[in-house]
Amino acid sequence: MTGPLVPPGPLTHGTELNAVYAIARIVAETFDTESGLDAVFRLAHTIFIFDVVALYLQSEESGGLEPTYARALGRGRAREADLTWGEPAAIEAFRTGQTILRQEDVGPSIEGRERRRDYLGLPLMVGGRCVGGLVFGRFGGPAFPAEHIRLAEFVAWHVGQLLENRRMASRIATLEAQRELARMQDEFVSTISHELRTPLGFIKGYVTTLLREETKWDAETRIEFLRIIDDEADRLSELIDNLLDSSRLETGRLSMTQEPTRIAALVRDAASRTRSMYPDIQLTIVVDDDLPLLLVDSTRIAQVLDNLLSNAHKYAPGAPVTVRATKEDKRISIEVADEGEGIPREHISHLFERFYRVPNNNRAVRGTGLGLYICRKIVEAHGGEIWVESAPGEGTTFLFTLPIAASLDHPELEAKHD
Ligand code: ATP
Ligand code: MG
Repeated sequence: MTGPLVPPGPLTHGTELNAVYAIARIVAETFDTESGLDAVFRLAHTIFIFDVVALYLQSEESGGLEPTYARALGRGRAREADLTWGEPAAIEAFRTGQTILRQEDVGPSIEGRERRRDYLGLPLMVGGRCVGGLVFGRFGGPAFPAEHIRLAEFVAWHVGQLLENRRMASRIATLEAQRELARMQDEFVSTISHELRTPLGFIKGYVTTLLREETKWDAETRIEFLRIIDDEADRLSELIDNLLDSSRLETGRLSMTQEPTRIAALVRDAASRTRSMYPDIQLTIVVDDDLPLLLVDSTRIAQVLDNLLSNAHKYAPGAPVTVRATKEDKRISIEVADEGEGIPREHISHLFERFYRVPNNNRAVRGTGLGLYICRKIVEAHGGEIWVESAPGEGTTFLFTLPIAASLDHPELEAKHD
């Protein structure tokens, strides 16, 4: 080392000790690497003099060092962006695992004392392994004295700890994400098994009963049992369809085939399906005459209506139900309103989540909590929105919108559902 010692200046032993403690505390408490580094170097700057500092870390792909952080805290602020200055010192410290000092004369393009550059390169250790180099640069001398080198080594060790914190934090986050995924998969499997077991249990029970040789069933009872088996088999296959749809929707693999569709006809078809399935339902249809053609997957939009109508029948038994389709400015709005018991406010925001069911009050009514989730995904895939308005005692209205594609706003176009 050459050059005169840096005068102690305003530094006292006390401020140095305080800064050293503060650095150690920041490292122990900070998980945000960038702001931790900023704070550490700001403090380091109060205990020894440097103009620039940069961090070079080994790249996982190339194995070489890449600049990852740099700050100019003294002279030469303009050089913050250009990071090649520290590279030779970083590489040497990284390769040898030793603290190294380099001195450079940048040539006559820079006038005066600042031609002289001193670089202090320090190996960065993380978890016992050298992962890069930290370089302090000082312009215009004097060289780094032994005492400053010792402080820089202290800072480098703490920077290594900061990086270790980051490595640990990201490992913890990965582990937590894996655990959460495993938990969700467990929950999914147990919900599904439970739901599949219910209809299967009925089917198995009634078939076993019918097969029992010691009992003779009269024709009427046999038919009743077979009807239950038939219904439960339908329920099972509907459940499997819903599960498949919902998993495809979740991963974006459910294909939609959009074609020009007359919404009025689609709504009337859904209504007649519902009437034949639930002959007791009091259903009113109100459809604007001048609804334009929509570009939609008609099977999927019919599925949305079927889901909403089956919910109205299940959760508002005996209450009048109205389906309304109206043209708004740039969209069509469709609502399914019932005059049933309504839904308590705390459940409203969860209704469209997968497997969500309002607890307790409808346990007698069977369902999986997939219907509204599927509705939401289908409507969103069409660029529309779906929501619910409900209050206990005031009935429930589900509304969804479908955008009107400009090019289709011509009734003379051929349409499906005529
Ligand atoms: P699935 O449709 O999968 O067979 P589900 O009907 O329980 O089962 P969703 O259609 O997603 O599932 O409905 C979620 C929950 O929202 C229902 O369990 C019910 O508690 C509540 N809900 C839905 N529609 C109404 C309604 N019209 N009135 C009152 N509550 C409703
Ligand atoms: Mg439902």
